[in-house]
Amino acid sequence: MAREYPLERYRNIGIMAHIDAGKTTTTERILFYTGAIHRMGEVHEGNTTTDWMVQERERGITITSAAISAFWARRDQRYRVNIIDTPGHVDFTIEVERSLRVLDGAIAVFDAVNGVEPQSETVWRQADKYKVPRICFINKMDRVGADFEMSVGTIREKLGARAVRMQLPLGAEDKHRGVIDLLKMKALVFQDSEQGSRYEEADIPEEYQEAAAAARGELLEAAAEQDDALTEKFLEGVELTEDEVRGAIRKGCVGLKLFPVFCGSAFRHKGVQPLLDAVVDYLPSPLEVPPIHGKTPNGEDAVRETRDDAPFSALAFKIMNDPAFQSQTLTFLRVYSGKLEAGTAVWNSVKGKRERVSRLVQMRADKKDEITECYAGDICAVVGLKLAGTGDTLCDDKQPIILERMEFPEPVIDIAIEPKSTADQDKILQSLQRLAMEDPSFRVKTNEETGQTLIAGMGELHLEIIVDRLLREFKVDANIGKPQVAYRETVSTQVEMEGKYIRQTGGRGQYGHIWLRVAPNEPGQGFSFENKVTGGAVSKEFVDAVK
Ligand code: GDP
Repeated sequence: MAREYPLERYRNIGIMAHIDAGKTTTTERILFYTGAIHRMGEVHEGNTTTDWMVQERERGITITSAAISAFWARRDQRYRVNIIDTPGHVDFTIEVERSLRVLDGAIAVFDAVNGVEPQSETVWRQADKYKVPRICFINKMDRVGADFEMSVGTIREKLGARAVRMQLPLGAEDKHRGVIDLLKMKALVFQDSEQGSRYEEADIPEEYQEAAAAARGELLEAAAEQDDALTEKFLEGVELTEDEVRGAIRKGCVGLKLFPVFCGSAFRHKGVQPLLDAVVDYLPSPLEVPPIHGKTPNGEDAVRETRDDAPFSALAFKIMNDPAFQSQTLTFLRVYSGKLEAGTAVWNSVKGKRERVSRLVQMRADKKDEITECYAGDICAVVGLKLAGTGDTLCDDKQPIILERMEFPEPVIDIAIEPKSTADQDKILQSLQRLAMEDPSFRVKTNEETGQTLIAGMGELHLEIIVDRLLREFKVDANIGKPQVAYRETVSTQVEMEGKYIRQTGGRGQYGHIWLRVAPNEPGQGFSFENKVTGGAVSKEFVDAVK
């Protein structure tokens, strides 16, 4: 069987946001318009499709990064859009990192009332680190206090990003009716009926014309700057064509020179289809991102081109238990080169072991498709792998490679844990080890002095969810102690200044180090510390220990 679509018509994207900005709602709408789901779950009903885990529904946050395949038609071509869900909660920055590692582009969602918020900044910086091209969606234009220009301003000022407006809102708050497309110079008016699935192109109303002309001027200038030939045309006053502008903005976006900005209200079904058009128009296909690098077993550098006829290589980026598969393990893979066929064996170059791939699936919002092959640039899940952990490379055993590893932050807090029933002593350890395989930022340790079992993670919420999962998935009821900042007893005096970060090494060495940002207080008030990884404040106990 050959590849269904040429690789240039693939988009592997993530949706990133501050919690509550509307990431889940936007994802739901995208899946609805792409036909992946036909009945939408409103977020407040707690039955959205991407929030698979019960805890997420209860807490209203998205933790797992599920990858879902959808399709979108643009200019008579069908595109395959793989959506890799990225969580918004700061305790799960690790989940954000692992998804950023495998996607090629992202939609950054902002709340139009708040603009850039602290967590949007954290996630934005992570995306910078992985060089992920982004388009911005200023959501919630229907809310009281929604302010598009303020929001764009915060992207420019707080994120230092070149935000280029591709649209203006057509009305705000309760008068929000749609968007003004600055490329076509048309108003897109969304019908309130039919869940916004239809919109009409109309002339730009008189009162918006001046603002639209000014914003379009900026857009053309930004486009012209991306290409010498266009710069010349622009300076000579020759009108640039729609395709020229689109092509130049695409070039700027893929090259991380600029960030196109769109707007709307996901909740009110306004602006989502043009956002999907923008995913196709401005975000890169797997062919447009640099090929992945890695090391051969003898330590030589190696590159794997994104081609079907190259040796197979893939990165396991997410492992989860799927209740729909008799709780079998699903290992999500990003295939970088070659192809993976069901019924063959793969080499896990990190574990140094071979494993058979019996079944391959691709996730749709409402079902799973059994597939026989998965090609370079695509995402799939293997059912029932036992050895692969998050971050492992799977490859062709004749041409082994270890792909660039994902970086996993070290856990920052510890909690002592014990089963409520002593009969569960062995089971709790096995279950915790199993969870640690899925989640590299979660560790199981033993307190050397007391012999107590400790679990370590990225924050209290992270560990609470682990305890919750122990009960739900492994039927082990556990008692936990008070959270402690990891390293409290092991903090040594080896504090090094490196730029504005302090690297604090755990005395025993086995837990590595964490990075603290030294944040100056009011003048004359000394310093406080911030955990660089989670962005959270560091407890006073910890700071005292460092002193
Ligand atoms: P997430 O935490 O980023 O995934 O955000 P959600 O999608 O869960 O949305 C958070 C809250 O904002 C929910 O109550 C949504 O119904 C609401 N919401 C999302 N999009 C919009 C929007 O466009 N307008 C308004 N008024 N509310 C929205």
